[in-house]
Amino acid sequence: MFASQLKNSVRKSKTLVDKISSPPLAVVGTVAIDAVETPFGKRDRVFGGSASYFSYAASFFTPVSLVAVVGEDFPQEYRKVLEERPIDLSHLHKSEGKTFFWRGRYSSDLNSAQTLETQINVLTKFNPLLKFKKQPDFVFLANIDPALQLRVLDQLEKPRLKFVACDTMNYWIAHQREDLLRVLARVDCLVINEGEARELTGESNLIRAAQKIKTYGPDHVMIKKGEHGVLLFYGAQFFALPAFPLESVFDPTGAGDSFAGGVVGYLASTGRLDFLNMKRAVAWGSVIASFTVEDFGLESLRRTSWKMLRERLAVFRKISKF
Ligand code: AMP
Repeated sequence: MFASQLKNSVRKSKTLVDKISSPPLAVVGTVAIDAVETPFGKRDRVFGGSASYFSYAASFFTPVSLVAVVGEDFPQEYRKVLEERPIDLSHLHKSEGKTFFWRGRYSSDLNSAQTLETQINVLTKFNPLLKFKKQPDFVFLANIDPALQLRVLDQLEKPRLKFVACDTMNYWIAHQREDLLRVLARVDCLVINEGEARELTGESNLIRAAQKIKTYGPDHVMIKKGEHGVLLFYGAQFFALPAFPLESVFDPTGAGDSFAGGVVGYLASTGRLDFLNMKRAVAWGSVIASFTVEDFGLESLRRTSWKMLRERLAVFRKISKF
């Protein structure tokens, strides 16, 4: 099913979006211009943003609506990258001002990013207005100001929603904690990295951190541990998966967002939320993220084929079974 969906989406992505004018999945988050420094190189302008990575990754599985804002400086060539895929851009607004900008530097082991500069720019005035013909069943509140995540949630009818997940980062944990807790009270799942899980809860042990996060609202928690993989706390059940064993990681930017895109994209395409399907989703998310980190920005994902994804999934099956 996915193989044919992917082939179609690659060959006829525009037609697919036209046909499926109401994607089952929507994401709100940042569409950004990044400046990234890794031990292997430096780029002053890279196409980034939590929603860009998420939607590109999710589009391997399902059409997705992207809800975001960009400024007048947003390059047309970046928009074209999104147009390669079944990504509905009718909620991608252009505003006066400059696009969200993030500058980051990675540690020598590539496990942690240091934020050197964040320019919120057009995000300050962004007021996302949802005009879906049909409300999506699956929604991802990617890393963005929690006040905006709340505005999106307020426009969605709860009975229709099958699954809402969210992400956040240290910037919002430190600056907007109250709003963030309001978001958490209303989502089914939090996808977060280990440092942020510790910062959010004040617990250094990740099992305790996940338990505490569940008391804030979400039934499920996914804790991303970079090269050490991911922990899934599904209700009272637990699953862990290593990261795909890569010999060289080039730029980890977007790994977390594309992981989430793979996870929620897979869930939306299958429509099932049981534990087994959630574990499969985690494996697909990890496979997609393993491609993202092999080049700057979305470059590696753009070269990734369905066959390549399947081959890595087969490796995961082999190494995680005993
Ligand atoms: P990650 O998947 O965690 O590596 O996310 C990387 C992306 O997050 C980058 O492309 C940035 O543009 C974006 N980003 C950085 N800081 C923020 C922030 N405070 N809010 C939303 N997105 C951000």
